[in-house]
Amino acid sequence: MAALVGLSRCCLLGPPRRQRLWLRSRPGRSPFPRGSMRASSSKAVYDVVVSGGGMVGTAMAAALGHDVHLRDKKILLLETRPRKVFNQVSENYSNRVSAITPGSATFLSRFGAWEDICNMRIKPFRRMQVWDACSDAMIIFDKDNLEDMGYIIENNVIMAALTKQLDAISDRVEVLYKSRAVGYTFPLHYQTSDSSPWVQIDLADGRRLQTKLLIGADGQNSVVRKAAGIQNIQYRYDQSSIVATLHLSEATDNNVAWQRFLPSGPIALLPLSDTVSSLVWSTSHEHASQLLSMDEESFVDSVNSAFWSNAHHSDLIDTAGSMFQSAVSFLMPSGTAGRQLPPSVAKVDPKSRAVFPLGLGHATEYVQHRVALIGDAAHRVHPLAGQGVNMGFGDIACLTRHLSAAAFSGKDLGSLKHLLQYEGERQRHNVSLMAAIDLLKRLYSTSVIPFVLLRTWGLQATNAIPPVKEQIMGFANK
Ligand SMILES: Cc1cc2nc3c(=O)[nH]c(=O)nc-3n(C[C@H](O)[C@H](O)[C@H](O)COP(=O)(O)OP(=O)(O)OC[C@H]3O[C@@H](n4cnc5c(N)ncnc54)[C@H](O)[C@@H]3O)c2cc1C
Repeated sequence: MAALVGLSRCCLLGPPRRQRLWLRSRPGRSPFPRGSMRASSSKAVYDVVVSGGGMVGTAMAAALGHDVHLRDKKILLLETRPRKVFNQVSENYSNRVSAITPGSATFLSRFGAWEDICNMRIKPFRRMQVWDACSDAMIIFDKDNLEDMGYIIENNVIMAALTKQLDAISDRVEVLYKSRAVGYTFPLHYQTSDSSPWVQIDLADGRRLQTKLLIGADGQNSVVRKAAGIQNIQYRYDQSSIVATLHLSEATDNNVAWQRFLPSGPIALLPLSDTVSSLVWSTSHEHASQLLSMDEESFVDSVNSAFWSNAHHSDLIDTAGSMFQSAVSFLMPSGTAGRQLPPSVAKVDPKSRAVFPLGLGHATEYVQHRVALIGDAAHRVHPLAGQGVNMGFGDIACLTRHLSAAAFSGKDLGSLKHLLQYEGERQRHNVSLMAAIDLLKRLYSTSVIPFVLLRTWGLQATNAIPPVKEQIMGFANK
Protein backbone atom coordinates (compact mmCIF):
# COMPACT_ATOMS: atom_id res chain seq x y z
CA MET A 1 0.00 0.00 0.00
CA ALA A 2 2.86 2.35 0.85
CA ALA A 3 4.36 1.69 -2.57
CA LEU A 4 1.04 2.51 -4.22
CA VAL A 5 0.69 5.73 -2.27
CA GLY A 6 4.29 6.60 -3.21
CA LEU A 7 3.47 5.99 -6.86
CA SER A 8 0.36 8.12 -6.70
CA ARG A 9 2.30 10.92 -4.97
CA CYS A 10 4.82 10.96 -7.81
CA CYS A 11 2.06 11.00 -10.48
CA LEU A 12 0.10 13.76 -8.73
CA LEU A 13 3.11 16.02 -8.33
CA GLY A 14 3.93 15.82 -12.03
CA PRO A 15 7.33 16.28 -13.65
CA PRO A 16 10.50 16.56 -11.56
CA ARG A 17 11.75 19.89 -10.20
CA ARG A 18 14.05 20.88 -13.10
CA GLN A 19 11.19 20.65 -15.58
CA ARG A 20 8.89 22.46 -13.14
CA LEU A 21 11.31 25.39 -13.00
CA TRP A 22 11.11 25.63 -16.77
CA LEU A 23 7.33 25.69 -16.56
CA ARG A 24 7.44 28.33 -13.85
CA SER A 25 9.47 30.75 -15.95
CA ARG A 26 7.57 30.10 -19.18
CA PRO A 27 4.90 32.84 -19.02
CA GLY A 28 7.59 35.46 -18.60
CA ARG A 29 9.81 34.18 -21.42
CA SER A 30 7.80 35.30 -24.35
CA PRO A 31 8.35 38.91 -25.35
CA PHE A 32 4.71 38.88 -26.49
CA PRO A 33 2.74 37.39 -23.65
CA ARG A 34 -0.88 36.36 -24.11
CA GLY A 35 -3.26 39.35 -24.37
CA SER A 36 -0.33 41.74 -24.54
CA MET A 37 -2.24 45.03 -24.30
CA ARG A 38 -0.46 47.24 -21.78
CA ALA A 39 -2.16 48.84 -18.83
CA SER A 40 -1.62 52.51 -18.25
CA SER A 41 0.53 53.06 -15.18
CA SER A 42 -2.11 55.39 -13.75
CA LYS A 43 -4.54 52.46 -13.24
CA ALA A 44 -5.23 51.44 -9.67
CA VAL A 45 -3.31 48.35 -8.64
CA TYR A 46 -4.89 45.85 -6.26
CA ASP A 47 -2.68 44.11 -3.73
CA VAL A 48 -4.65 40.88 -4.12
CA VAL A 49 -7.32 39.80 -6.60
CA VAL A 50 -9.14 36.53 -5.89
CA SER A 51 -10.65 35.19 -9.11
CA GLY A 52 -13.65 32.96 -8.40
CA GLY A 53 -16.21 33.48 -5.64
CA GLY A 54 -17.32 29.93 -4.82
CA MET A 55 -17.05 28.69 -1.22
CA VAL A 56 -13.24 28.73 -1.36
CA GLY A 57 -12.70 32.08 -3.14
CA THR A 58 -15.25 33.86 -0.94
CA ALA A 59 -13.66 32.42 2.21
CA MET A 60 -10.22 33.51 0.91
CA ALA A 61 -11.37 37.10 0.41
CA ALA A 62 -13.04 37.13 3.85
CA ALA A 63 -9.97 35.67 5.58
CA LEU A 64 -7.64 38.23 3.94
CA GLY A 65 -9.99 41.13 4.70
CA HIS A 66 -10.18 40.18 8.38
CA ASP A 67 -6.42 39.74 8.82
CA VAL A 68 -4.97 42.51 10.95
CA HIS A 69 -1.68 42.73 9.02
CA LEU A 70 -3.48 43.02 5.68
CA ARG A 71 -5.75 45.86 6.84
CA ASP A 72 -4.32 48.49 4.51
CA LYS A 73 -4.29 46.21 1.46
CA LYS A 74 -6.57 46.65 -1.52
CA ILE A 75 -8.38 43.35 -2.08
CA LEU A 76 -10.84 42.39 -4.81
CA LEU A 77 -13.03 39.32 -5.36
CA LEU A 78 -14.26 38.55 -8.88
CA GLU A 79 -17.22 36.25 -9.48
CA THR A 80 -18.97 35.40 -12.73
CA ARG A 81 -22.36 34.71 -11.18
CA PRO A 82 -24.70 37.30 -9.66
CA ARG A 83 -24.77 37.75 -5.90
CA LYS A 84 -27.12 35.26 -4.27
CA VAL A 85 -29.74 36.75 -2.00
CA PHE A 86 -30.19 34.62 1.11
CA ASN A 87 -32.49 36.15 3.69
CA GLN A 88 -33.33 33.13 5.81
CA VAL A 89 -33.07 29.35 5.63
CA SER A 90 -35.91 27.83 3.67
CA GLU A 91 -38.07 25.04 5.07
CA ASN A 92 -36.76 22.63 2.44
CA TYR A 93 -33.17 21.51 2.65
CA SER A 94 -30.87 22.13 -0.30
CA ASN A 95 -29.56 19.02 -2.09
CA ARG A 96 -25.98 20.43 -2.08
CA VAL A 97 -24.35 19.86 1.28
CA SER A 98 -20.81 19.45 2.61
CA ALA A 99 -19.37 17.44 5.48
CA ILE A 100 -17.22 20.00 7.28
CA THR A 101 -14.40 18.96 9.60
CA PRO A 102 -13.78 20.49 13.06
CA GLY A 103 -10.53 21.91 11.57
CA SER A 104 -12.55 23.84 8.97
CA ALA A 105 -14.96 24.97 11.70
CA THR A 106 -12.01 26.44 13.62
CA PHE A 107 -10.79 28.20 10.48
CA LEU A 108 -14.25 29.68 9.75
CA SER A 109 -14.67 30.83 13.34
CA ARG A 110 -11.52 33.00 13.06
CA PHE A 111 -13.47 35.57 11.08
CA GLY A 112 -16.99 35.07 12.41
CA ALA A 113 -18.46 32.89 9.65
CA TRP A 114 -18.85 29.83 11.88
CA GLU A 115 -21.13 31.65 14.31
CA ASP A 116 -23.32 32.77 11.40
CA ILE A 117 -23.51 29.19 10.09
CA CYS A 118 -24.52 27.90 13.55
CA ASN A 119 -27.22 30.59 13.71
CA MET A 120 -28.63 29.44 10.37
CA ARG A 121 -28.66 25.63 10.05
CA ILE A 122 -26.12 22.95 10.86
CA LYS A 123 -26.22 19.29 11.86
CA PRO A 124 -23.31 17.90 13.89
CA PHE A 125 -22.57 14.17 13.76
CA ARG A 126 -20.76 12.17 16.41
CA ARG A 127 -20.21 8.87 14.69
CA MET A 128 -19.40 7.56 11.24
CA GLN A 129 -20.04 3.98 10.20
CA VAL A 130 -18.40 2.74 7.01
CA TRP A 131 -18.98 -0.79 5.81
CA ASP A 132 -18.41 -3.07 2.86
CA ALA A 133 -21.27 -4.47 0.75
CA CYS A 134 -19.21 -7.61 -0.06
CA SER A 135 -18.63 -8.63 3.58
CA ASP A 136 -19.59 -7.76 7.15
CA ALA A 137 -16.40 -5.73 7.61
CA MET A 138 -16.92 -2.22 8.91
CA ILE A 139 -15.14 0.62 10.59
CA ILE A 140 -16.67 2.96 13.13
CA PHE A 141 -15.26 6.37 13.89
CA ASP A 142 -16.60 7.99 17.01
CA LYS A 143 -15.45 10.16 19.84
CA ASP A 144 -15.56 8.83 23.39
CA ASN A 145 -15.96 12.31 24.86
CA LEU A 146 -19.06 13.19 22.82
CA GLU A 147 -17.15 15.74 20.76
CA ASP A 148 -18.54 16.42 17.29
CA MET A 149 -16.80 14.44 14.53
CA GLY A 150 -17.96 16.82 11.86
CA TYR A 151 -20.91 18.86 10.60
CA ILE A 152 -23.27 18.54 7.66
CA ILE A 153 -24.03 21.99 6.28
CA GLU A 154 -25.86 23.14 3.16
CA ASN A 155 -23.48 24.84 0.73
CA ASN A 156 -25.81 27.84 0.43
CA VAL A 157 -25.68 28.30 4.23
CA ILE A 158 -21.86 28.35 4.08
CA MET A 159 -22.01 30.85 1.20
CA ALA A 160 -24.50 33.07 3.05
CA ALA A 161 -22.27 33.18 6.15
CA LEU A 162 -19.16 33.98 4.09
CA THR A 163 -20.99 36.69 2.13
CA LYS A 164 -22.20 38.27 5.38
CA GLN A 165 -18.61 38.41 6.62
CA LEU A 166 -17.51 40.00 3.34
CA ASP A 167 -20.25 42.62 3.66
CA ALA A 168 -18.89 43.48 7.11
CA ILE A 169 -15.52 44.45 5.59
CA SER A 170 -16.76 46.11 2.39
CA ASP A 171 -14.41 49.05 3.11
CA ARG A 172 -11.44 46.67 2.69
CA VAL A 173 -12.64 44.05 0.22
CA GLU A 174 -14.35 45.02 -3.01
CA VAL A 175 -16.55 42.39 -4.68
CA LEU A 176 -17.45 42.41 -8.37
CA TYR A 177 -20.31 40.01 -9.13
CA LYS A 178 -21.34 39.24 -12.72
CA SER A 179 -17.69 39.82 -13.68
CA ARG A 180 -15.95 37.11 -15.68
CA ALA A 181 -12.18 37.23 -16.04
CA VAL A 182 -11.43 36.29 -19.64
CA GLY A 183 -7.67 36.78 -19.82
CA TYR A 184 -4.60 37.18 -17.63
CA THR A 185 -1.27 38.70 -18.61
CA PHE A 186 1.66 37.84 -16.40
CA PRO A 187 4.61 40.18 -15.81
CA LEU A 188 7.81 39.77 -17.76
CA HIS A 189 10.89 38.66 -15.86
CA TYR A 190 12.62 41.80 -17.08
CA GLN A 191 11.04 45.23 -17.20
CA THR A 192 10.75 47.37 -20.29
CA SER A 193 9.53 50.96 -20.38
CA ASP A 194 6.01 49.94 -21.38
CA SER A 195 5.69 46.66 -19.45
CA SER A 196 3.73 46.29 -16.25
CA PRO A 197 5.30 44.59 -13.22
CA TRP A 198 1.83 43.36 -12.18
CA VAL A 199 -0.61 40.68 -13.31
CA GLN A 200 -3.22 42.19 -15.61
CA ILE A 201 -6.76 40.87 -15.70
CA ASP A 202 -9.13 41.38 -18.60
CA LEU A 203 -12.82 41.22 -17.76
CA ALA A 204 -15.55 40.18 -20.21
CA ASP A 205 -17.01 43.72 -20.11
CA GLY A 206 -13.73 45.16 -21.45
CA ARG A 207 -12.34 46.48 -18.18
CA ARG A 208 -8.70 45.79 -17.30
CA LEU A 209 -7.40 45.44 -13.72
CA GLN A 210 -3.94 45.01 -12.23
CA THR A 211 -2.81 43.14 -9.16
CA LYS A 212 0.37 42.31 -7.27
CA LEU A 213 -0.98 38.84 -6.45
CA LEU A 214 -3.60 36.86 -8.32
CA ILE A 215 -5.27 34.01 -6.41
CA GLY A 216 -7.00 31.49 -8.67
CA ALA A 217 -10.09 30.10 -6.90
CA ASP A 218 -11.97 29.53 -10.13
CA GLY A 219 -12.72 25.83 -9.73
CA GLN A 220 -11.74 22.60 -11.46
CA ASN A 221 -11.56 24.19 -14.97
CA SER A 222 -9.48 27.09 -13.66
CA VAL A 223 -8.70 29.74 -16.30
CA VAL A 224 -5.97 31.14 -14.02
CA ARG A 225 -4.24 27.73 -13.95
CA LYS A 226 -4.44 27.38 -17.74
CA ALA A 227 -3.30 30.95 -18.43
CA ALA A 228 -0.31 30.50 -16.09
CA GLY A 229 0.65 27.38 -18.04
CA ILE A 230 0.45 25.19 -14.94
CA GLN A 231 0.06 21.51 -15.74
CA ASN A 232 -2.91 19.67 -14.28
CA ILE A 233 -2.72 15.92 -13.75
CA GLN A 234 -6.29 14.79 -14.22
CA TYR A 235 -8.53 11.93 -15.12
CA ARG A 236 -12.23 11.23 -15.11
CA TYR A 237 -13.53 8.54 -12.82
CA ASP A 238 -15.95 6.02 -14.31
CA GLN A 239 -18.52 7.35 -11.83
CA SER A 240 -21.01 10.14 -11.26
CA SER A 241 -22.54 11.13 -7.93
CA ILE A 242 -26.28 11.43 -7.57
CA VAL A 243 -27.36 13.69 -4.69
CA ALA A 244 -30.86 13.97 -3.18
CA THR A 245 -32.68 15.06 -0.03
CA LEU A 246 -34.31 12.10 1.74
CA HIS A 247 -36.91 11.76 4.50
CA LEU A 248 -36.44 8.93 6.99
CA SER A 249 -39.18 6.46 7.95
CA GLU A 250 -39.03 7.54 11.58
CA ALA A 251 -37.40 10.24 13.70
CA THR A 252 -34.08 9.21 15.27
CA ASP A 253 -31.18 11.00 16.94
CA ASN A 254 -29.73 10.92 13.43
CA ASN A 255 -26.22 11.87 14.46
CA VAL A 256 -24.45 9.19 12.43
CA ALA A 257 -22.95 9.59 8.95
CA TRP A 258 -23.37 6.31 7.05
CA GLN A 259 -21.32 5.10 4.13
CA ARG A 260 -21.48 1.72 2.43
CA PHE A 261 -19.04 0.65 -0.27
CA LEU A 262 -20.94 -1.10 -3.07
CA PRO A 263 -18.94 -2.62 -5.96
CA SER A 264 -20.30 0.15 -8.23
CA GLY A 265 -19.26 2.92 -5.77
CA PRO A 266 -19.89 4.33 -2.28
CA ILE A 267 -23.33 5.44 -1.05
CA ALA A 268 -23.50 7.90 1.86
CA LEU A 269 -26.35 9.13 4.01
CA LEU A 270 -25.52 12.37 5.83
CA PRO A 271 -27.74 13.68 8.64
CA LEU A 272 -29.48 17.06 8.21
CA SER A 273 -32.09 16.83 10.97
CA ASP A 274 -33.75 14.06 13.01
CA THR A 275 -35.87 13.11 10.01
CA VAL A 276 -34.01 14.39 6.95
CA SER A 277 -30.73 13.17 5.44
CA SER A 278 -28.72 14.01 2.37
CA LEU A 279 -27.71 11.32 -0.11
CA VAL A 280 -24.43 11.20 -2.04
CA TRP A 281 -24.38 8.03 -4.13
CA SER A 282 -21.42 7.53 -6.46
CA THR A 283 -22.04 4.93 -9.13
CA SER A 284 -21.53 4.22 -12.84
CA HIS A 285 -22.69 7.00 -15.20
CA GLU A 286 -25.44 4.76 -16.64
CA HIS A 287 -26.74 3.77 -13.21
CA ALA A 288 -26.67 7.41 -12.05
CA SER A 289 -28.80 8.50 -15.01
CA GLN A 290 -31.23 5.61 -14.36
CA LEU A 291 -31.50 6.70 -10.72
CA LEU A 292 -32.10 10.26 -11.87
CA SER A 293 -34.96 9.37 -14.20
CA MET A 294 -36.77 6.63 -12.24
CA ASP A 295 -39.98 7.41 -10.34
CA GLU A 296 -39.67 8.50 -6.71
CA GLU A 297 -40.90 5.23 -5.20
CA SER A 298 -38.43 3.09 -7.19
CA PHE A 299 -35.65 5.53 -6.29
CA VAL A 300 -36.40 5.17 -2.55
CA ASP A 301 -36.48 1.35 -2.94
CA SER A 302 -33.09 1.45 -4.69
CA VAL A 303 -31.57 3.54 -1.87
CA ASN A 304 -32.91 1.22 0.86
CA SER A 305 -31.75 -1.86 -0.99
CA ALA A 306 -28.26 -0.33 -1.49
CA PHE A 307 -27.96 0.04 2.30
CA TRP A 308 -29.61 -3.23 3.36
CA SER A 309 -29.14 -5.89 0.67
CA ASN A 310 -26.55 -8.66 1.12
CA ALA A 311 -26.62 -9.64 -2.55
CA HIS A 312 -22.85 -9.07 -2.87
CA HIS A 313 -21.88 -11.34 0.04
CA SER A 314 -20.21 -14.73 -0.58
CA ASP A 315 -19.82 -17.66 1.84
CA LEU A 316 -16.03 -17.68 1.45
CA ILE A 317 -15.61 -14.01 2.37
CA ASP A 318 -18.18 -14.25 5.20
CA THR A 319 -16.36 -17.23 6.76
CA ALA A 320 -12.86 -15.74 6.36
CA GLY A 321 -14.13 -12.41 7.68
CA SER A 322 -15.82 -13.84 10.78
CA MET A 323 -12.74 -15.97 11.66
CA PHE A 324 -10.52 -12.91 11.43
CA GLN A 325 -13.05 -10.84 13.40
CA SER A 326 -13.11 -13.45 16.23
CA ALA A 327 -9.30 -13.35 16.40
CA VAL A 328 -9.29 -9.53 16.45
CA SER A 329 -11.99 -9.37 19.16
CA PHE A 330 -9.99 -11.86 21.24
CA LEU A 331 -6.77 -9.82 20.92
CA MET A 332 -8.39 -6.37 21.22
CA PRO A 333 -11.62 -6.95 23.20
CA SER A 334 -12.16 -3.23 23.88
CA GLY A 335 -11.27 -2.03 20.41
CA THR A 336 -14.35 -3.05 18.47
CA ALA A 337 -17.37 -0.74 18.66
CA GLY A 338 -20.86 -2.13 18.05
CA ARG A 339 -22.53 -2.04 14.64
CA GLN A 340 -25.66 0.09 14.25
CA LEU A 341 -28.31 -0.40 11.60
CA PRO A 342 -28.78 2.42 9.10
CA PRO A 343 -32.13 4.24 9.04
CA SER A 344 -34.61 3.36 6.34
CA VAL A 345 -35.74 5.98 3.85
CA ALA A 346 -39.42 6.76 3.24
CA LYS A 347 -39.42 9.59 0.71
CA VAL A 348 -37.28 11.71 -1.59
CA ASP A 349 -37.83 15.47 -1.94
CA PRO A 350 -39.27 16.14 -5.39
CA LYS A 351 -36.73 17.71 -7.78
CA SER A 352 -33.88 17.23 -5.27
CA ARG A 353 -32.05 14.67 -7.41
CA ALA A 354 -29.01 15.92 -9.35
CA VAL A 355 -25.99 14.24 -10.93
CA PHE A 356 -22.30 15.30 -10.94
CA PRO A 357 -19.57 13.55 -12.96
CA LEU A 358 -16.51 12.77 -10.82
CA GLY A 359 -12.81 13.15 -11.50
CA LEU A 360 -9.41 13.66 -9.97
CA GLY A 361 -7.21 16.65 -10.71
CA HIS A 362 -4.00 18.05 -9.27
CA ALA A 363 -2.02 21.11 -10.35
CA THR A 364 1.68 20.24 -10.47
CA GLU A 365 2.40 23.72 -9.13
CA TYR A 366 0.20 25.78 -6.81
CA VAL A 367 2.21 28.98 -7.31
CA GLN A 368 4.17 31.06 -9.75
CA HIS A 369 5.56 34.57 -9.45
CA ARG A 370 2.48 36.66 -8.44
CA VAL A 371 0.04 33.71 -8.77
CA ALA A 372 -1.36 31.15 -6.32
CA LEU A 373 -4.01 28.48 -6.80
CA ILE A 374 -6.41 27.32 -4.08
CA GLY A 375 -9.39 24.95 -3.77
CA ASP A 376 -10.61 22.94 -6.75
CA ALA A 377 -8.42 25.04 -9.06
CA ALA A 378 -5.46 23.27 -7.40
CA HIS A 379 -6.98 19.87 -6.54
CA ARG A 380 -10.14 17.92 -7.20
CA VAL A 381 -11.00 14.73 -5.31
CA HIS A 382 -13.66 12.03 -5.22
CA PRO A 383 -16.36 13.02 -2.69
CA LEU A 384 -16.18 9.66 -0.85
CA ALA A 385 -14.16 11.18 2.00
CA GLY A 386 -15.95 14.56 2.01
CA GLN A 387 -12.65 16.45 1.76
CA GLY A 388 -12.83 18.80 -1.28
CA VAL A 389 -13.86 22.08 0.31
CA ASN A 390 -12.08 21.19 3.57
CA MET A 391 -8.83 20.96 1.61
CA GLY A 392 -9.66 24.36 0.09
CA PHE A 393 -10.18 25.88 3.55
CA GLY A 394 -6.86 24.35 4.62
CA ASP A 395 -5.19 26.06 1.63
CA ILE A 396 -6.65 29.41 2.69
CA ALA A 397 -5.55 29.07 6.32
CA CYS A 398 -2.00 28.31 5.15
CA LEU A 399 -1.81 30.98 2.42
CA THR A 400 -3.30 33.68 4.67
CA ARG A 401 -0.72 32.85 7.36
CA HIS A 402 2.17 33.31 4.89
CA LEU A 403 0.71 36.48 3.32
CA SER A 404 0.05 37.98 6.74
CA ALA A 405 3.65 37.32 7.80
CA ALA A 406 4.91 38.83 4.52
CA ALA A 407 2.77 41.95 5.00
CA PHE A 408 3.93 42.29 8.60
CA SER A 409 7.56 42.27 7.41
CA GLY A 410 6.80 44.74 4.61
CA LYS A 411 7.51 42.18 1.86
CA ASP A 412 6.02 41.96 -1.62
CA LEU A 413 2.87 39.78 -1.37
CA GLY A 414 3.42 38.35 -4.86
CA SER A 415 6.96 37.17 -4.17
CA LEU A 416 7.66 33.53 -4.90
CA LYS A 417 9.59 33.16 -1.65
CA HIS A 418 6.60 32.86 0.68
CA LEU A 419 4.29 31.51 -2.04
CA LEU A 420 6.63 28.51 -2.35
CA GLN A 421 6.33 27.90 1.40
CA TYR A 422 2.55 27.75 0.94
CA GLU A 423 2.94 25.35 -1.99
CA GLY A 424 5.31 23.04 -0.10
CA GLU A 425 3.12 22.83 3.00
CA ARG A 426 -0.14 22.28 1.16
CA GLN A 427 1.15 19.88 -1.48
CA ARG A 428 2.62 17.64 1.23
CA HIS A 429 -0.78 17.43 2.92
CA ASN A 430 -3.06 17.39 -0.14
CA VAL A 431 -1.10 14.87 -2.19
CA SER A 432 -1.06 12.31 0.65
CA LEU A 433 -4.79 12.77 1.21
CA MET A 434 -5.60 12.57 -2.50
CA ALA A 435 -3.50 9.43 -2.94
CA ALA A 436 -5.27 7.77 0.01
CA ILE A 437 -8.74 8.73 -1.32
CA ASP A 438 -7.87 7.50 -4.81
CA LEU A 439 -6.52 4.22 -3.42
CA LEU A 440 -9.70 3.70 -1.36
CA LYS A 441 -11.83 4.36 -4.45
CA ARG A 442 -9.88 1.75 -6.43
CA LEU A 443 -9.70 -0.84 -3.65
CA TYR A 444 -13.46 -0.70 -3.17
CA SER A 445 -14.36 -0.69 -6.87
CA THR A 446 -13.67 -4.41 -7.23
CA SER A 447 -15.35 -7.63 -6.14
CA VAL A 448 -12.30 -9.79 -7.01
CA ILE A 449 -11.94 -12.13 -4.02
CA PRO A 450 -8.29 -11.50 -2.97
CA PHE A 451 -8.91 -7.74 -2.92
CA VAL A 452 -12.18 -8.15 -1.04
CA LEU A 453 -10.38 -10.35 1.54
CA LEU A 454 -7.54 -7.84 1.83
CA ARG A 455 -9.84 -4.89 2.47
CA THR A 456 -12.11 -6.94 4.78
CA TRP A 457 -9.19 -7.83 7.02
CA GLY A 458 -7.70 -4.35 6.69
CA LEU A 459 -10.98 -2.73 7.76
CA GLN A 460 -11.49 -5.16 10.67
CA ALA A 461 -7.93 -4.67 11.92
CA THR A 462 -8.12 -0.86 11.61
CA ASN A 463 -11.47 -0.83 13.40
CA ALA A 464 -9.92 -2.72 16.33
CA ILE A 465 -7.02 -0.30 16.87
CA PRO A 466 -8.31 3.06 18.20
CA PRO A 467 -4.95 4.90 17.87
CA VAL A 468 -4.88 4.14 14.11
CA LYS A 469 -8.43 5.44 13.73
CA GLU A 470 -7.51 8.57 15.68
CA GLN A 471 -4.53 9.12 13.36
CA ILE A 472 -6.82 8.83 10.31
CA MET A 473 -9.33 11.29 11.80
CA GLY A 474 -6.53 13.66 12.85
CA PHE A 475 -4.97 13.71 9.38
CA ALA A 476 -8.29 14.29 7.57
CA ASN A 477 -9.01 17.14 10.00
CA LYS A 478 -5.85 19.11 9.17
C1 LIG B 1 -21.43 15.39 -5.04
C2 LIG B 1 -20.36 16.14 -4.32
C3 LIG B 1 -20.31 16.10 -2.93
C4 LIG B 1 -19.30 16.78 -2.24
N1 LIG B 1 -19.25 16.70 -0.88
C5 LIG B 1 -18.26 17.32 -0.21
C6 LIG B 1 -18.18 17.24 1.22
O1 LIG B 1 -19.01 16.59 1.86
N2 LIG B 1 -17.16 17.88 1.85
C7 LIG B 1 -16.22 18.58 1.16
O2 LIG B 1 -15.28 19.12 1.78
N3 LIG B 1 -16.28 18.70 -0.19
C8 LIG B 1 -17.27 18.09 -0.88
N4 LIG B 1 -17.34 18.22 -2.25
C9 LIG B 1 -16.33 19.03 -2.96
C10 LIG B 1 -16.66 20.52 -2.90
O3 LIG B 1 -18.00 20.75 -3.31
C11 LIG B 1 -15.69 21.30 -3.79
O4 LIG B 1 -14.38 20.96 -3.42
C12 LIG B 1 -15.88 22.81 -3.60
O5 LIG B 1 -17.18 23.21 -3.94
C13 LIG B 1 -14.87 23.59 -4.46
O6 LIG B 1 -15.05 24.96 -4.24
P1 LIG B 1 -14.23 26.06 -5.08
O7 LIG B 1 -14.69 27.36 -4.57
O8 LIG B 1 -12.78 25.72 -5.08
O9 LIG B 1 -14.68 25.82 -6.60
P2 LIG B 1 -16.12 26.13 -7.28
O10 LIG B 1 -17.22 25.77 -6.37
O11 LIG B 1 -16.08 25.46 -8.61
O12 LIG B 1 -16.15 27.70 -7.45
C14 LIG B 1 -15.45 28.36 -8.48
C15 LIG B 1 -16.09 29.73 -8.65
O13 LIG B 1 -15.32 30.47 -9.58
C16 LIG B 1 -16.20 31.17 -10.46
N5 LIG B 1 -15.46 31.38 -11.71
C17 LIG B 1 -15.02 30.44 -12.57
N6 LIG B 1 -14.37 30.99 -13.60
C18 LIG B 1 -14.37 32.34 -13.37
C19 LIG B 1 -13.84 33.45 -14.08
N7 LIG B 1 -13.18 33.29 -15.23
N8 LIG B 1 -14.02 34.69 -13.57
C20 LIG B 1 -14.68 34.87 -12.40
N9 LIG B 1 -15.22 33.84 -11.68
C21 LIG B 1 -15.05 32.59 -12.16
C22 LIG B 1 -17.39 30.24 -10.61
O14 LIG B 1 -18.56 30.97 -11.00
C23 LIG B 1 -17.52 29.66 -9.21
O15 LIG B 1 -18.36 30.42 -8.39
C24 LIG B 1 -18.34 17.54 -2.96
C25 LIG B 1 -18.39 17.60 -4.36
C26 LIG B 1 -19.39 16.91 -5.03
C27 LIG B 1 -19.45 16.98 -6.54
